[in-house]
Amino acid sequence: MFQIFAIAALIGVIPGYIAHSKGRSFFLWWLYGAAFFIIALIHALLISPNVAEVEQRQLDNGMKKCPHCAELIKADANICRYCGRDQHSETADATPA
Ligand SMILES: [Zn+2]
Repeated sequence: MFQIFAIAALIGVIPGYIAHSKGRSFFLWWLYGAAFFIIALIHALLISPNVAEVEQRQLDNGMKKCPHCAELIKADANICRYCGRDQHSETADATPA
């Protein structure tokens, strides 16, 4: 009996991981995946990513938003890798006086 729960808990990690990478709660999707693996797996693959949450995680991980093109770039970057614009001259303008 224990083995069934162990296997369910183990395979539940798969939809949990997929959902987490789309900005959803790993824990809830892990429970869901452990209970209804096939349904949760398909569901996790079909849900659209929570863009705001994914972006917020990247901002928490030391990324910043380019003030020109709004793409996420490294906080240490001097030049945006998307639009190629300088990150120093305009950051001063963005801060309210
Ligand atoms: Zn840019």
